[in-house]
Amino acid sequence: MSDQELIAQLRKELRQHNYNYYVLDQPIISDFEFDMKLKQLQDLELQYPQMQDLNSPTLRVGGAVTKNFKTVVHAHRMYSLDNSYSKSDLLDWEKRIKKLVDGPIAYTCELKYDGASISITYKDGMLFQALTRGDGTQGDDVTANVKTIKSVPLKLQGDYPDFFEIRGEIILPFEGFKSMNESRILDGEEPFKNPRNTASGSLKLQNSSEVAKRPLECLLYGIVGENTGIISQFDNLKKARSWGFKVPKEAQCLDCIDAVLKFIEYWDSARHDLPYEIDGIVIKVNNLHQQAELGFTAKAPRWAMAYKFKAEQVSTKLNYISYQVGRTGAITPVANLEPVALAGTVVKRASLHNADQIAKLDVRVGDTVFIEKGGEIIPKITAVDLSKRSNDSTTTLYISECPECQTPLTRKSGEAQHYCFNTLGCPPQIIGRIQHYISRKALDIEGLGGETVTLLVNASLIQNPADLYTLKIEDILPLDRMAQKSAENLILGIEASKQIPFERVLFGLGIRYVGETVAKTLAKHYKSISALSEATVDNLEAVDEIGIKIAESVYAFFRNDNSIRLVSRLYSYGLQLELSKAALANQTSILAGDRIVVSGVFEKVSRSELKKLIDANGGKVVSSISAKTTYLVAGANMGPSKRQKAEDLGIPILTEQSFLDKL
Ligand code: AMP
Ligand code: ZN
Repeated sequence: MSDQELIAQLRKELRQHNYNYYVLDQPIISDFEFDMKLKQLQDLELQYPQMQDLNSPTLRVGGAVTKNFKTVVHAHRMYSLDNSYSKSDLLDWEKRIKKLVDGPIAYTCELKYDGASISITYKDGMLFQALTRGDGTQGDDVTANVKTIKSVPLKLQGDYPDFFEIRGEIILPFEGFKSMNESRILDGEEPFKNPRNTASGSLKLQNSSEVAKRPLECLLYGIVGENTGIISQFDNLKKARSWGFKVPKEAQCLDCIDAVLKFIEYWDSARHDLPYEIDGIVIKVNNLHQQAELGFTAKAPRWAMAYKFKAEQVSTKLNYISYQVGRTGAITPVANLEPVALAGTVVKRASLHNADQIAKLDVRVGDTVFIEKGGEIIPKITAVDLSKRSNDSTTTLYISECPECQTPLTRKSGEAQHYCFNTLGCPPQIIGRIQHYISRKALDIEGLGGETVTLLVNASLIQNPADLYTLKIEDILPLDRMAQKSAENLILGIEASKQIPFERVLFGLGIRYVGETVAKTLAKHYKSISALSEATVDNLEAVDEIGIKIAESVYAFFRNDNSIRLVSRLYSYGLQLELSKAALANQTSILAGDRIVVSGVFEKVSRSELKKLIDANGGKVVSSISAKTTYLVAGANMGPSKRQKAEDLGIPILTEQSFLDKL
């Protein structure tokens, strides 16, 4: 087989495996085999840039950066849906439409997926453009981002029309949402509130490789356009499925409103077992001729109706309020409830957020409260049932002392949260900081888990991360359930952490607002902890992507005696507190101050390697050409408009080779 044939073959295979995995949920090869094939294709594509394909499976990892999304007018307006909330609303709708069309009416009932709507056009079986709903008349071009969503086919199968538009909803299933939040919490970032907003926010991320990392899915529900040869909505769904789209199988075609009502009733409770959020059912007149007769109002099709489920609400008793202390000393009040079933789970606790929230609801111990689960995973208290309040109840007084160490709490102006500033003496803060230090994205100490940290702290064996390096086997053996072997592993794991690179140690220090990404940026810029510790607030703020909040926090950290002691102890135990020789060797400042645009396909190095090279040599990769661009590095197949723009602005254009020569 020639390399050209091999490329075509691999693309075909990878497409099929993608489809098996993301649309059918039935992979037939292992992830490892998939990655190997993908890697092989990537290498070949580099070797043969002339065989570039805008819809190659290798593009699923993203890479394109969009600063301003282009606004595009929808060829067919994206309407909203009329809502109904009861049986009688639906019967009214049926009466209205029966007057407008002849013959019996059948209905296709579908789940109403709760995400962000999307409209995708396909030309000759290839994904051409993806637009957000926007205001319905025009939306944003988010093609690059949508192409990273694995259940969206880039190339279709079967007998599809030459050109058509298909509508669907981009959603984030619960499981993916949960795991994203778990890693955000580890990174010291605020968790996302609900899957719906996260899904729509993801579509507007500027960097498509960030979108590629999010476990988004696209569920399709409608084909638009006149000449598709299809005669019913239910066939629309079947056809779309046959072309390779993910179209959930729950939809049913029913021939009377009574059956529709049963369908609704069933899903009102069964929805809690779905892997994603739905907020209702959409009922559509099945026959497309009838749909055409019914047409649209100013806002919505007359041939469709959404039935909205009520956000499930229950009431229960508030037994007591407890207060949690986080690693940073932030206090979170928690409502402890009489257990109650809600939306498929038993709820025992709800977050009360902060003192203001408690005051706003005027919620008191002993009250009967209403709780609700919307898109949020953690239920919230929406109101107090005042009719059930006892006469002797008293206003909730927010605690004034830390529940763990009795230190008076502080609340800075402008902040919602109360804090315990007994950083060194407050047990949950001590434990939290060490747990953060050993976590997967920080020092990732093998053989040491969160619970062991608690045991070690409670046994007064450690108080801060540096103490880990003084532990001896005989200290830890007496701990509960600690066998010789696990003790040895623990010590080995601690020893091995001395090789963990600087940026992860920096992240592990748990400086407020310094998550994984910020730690990387700072490590790369300052190269050593001593240089970082001497930086002024102004100097820090001048670093790309570092704002005033981070700058002040870093500056304060290195002005604190305890942090200074901690860092110098870590240094004395041999932790990596500067960039390694290897990392430094690849770094120069040859390109310092240069703003470089990279475009096209390259032969000697991949595009991402090229970007890394620029980065390592002090340059900055920018995505679009402007008067400030230093030069453009052009590979094969660069877009003509980019070249034109560079020429117009007099920006030098370098070939791959002449750029590499510079280094
Ligand atoms: P609304 O935003 O409440 O006006 O509802 C209209 C939106 O529901 C549409 O823009 C779609 O994005 C979304 N939707 C979710 N599932 C479906 C479905 N099965 N059929 C049609 N629209 C749907
Ligand atoms: Zn405390």
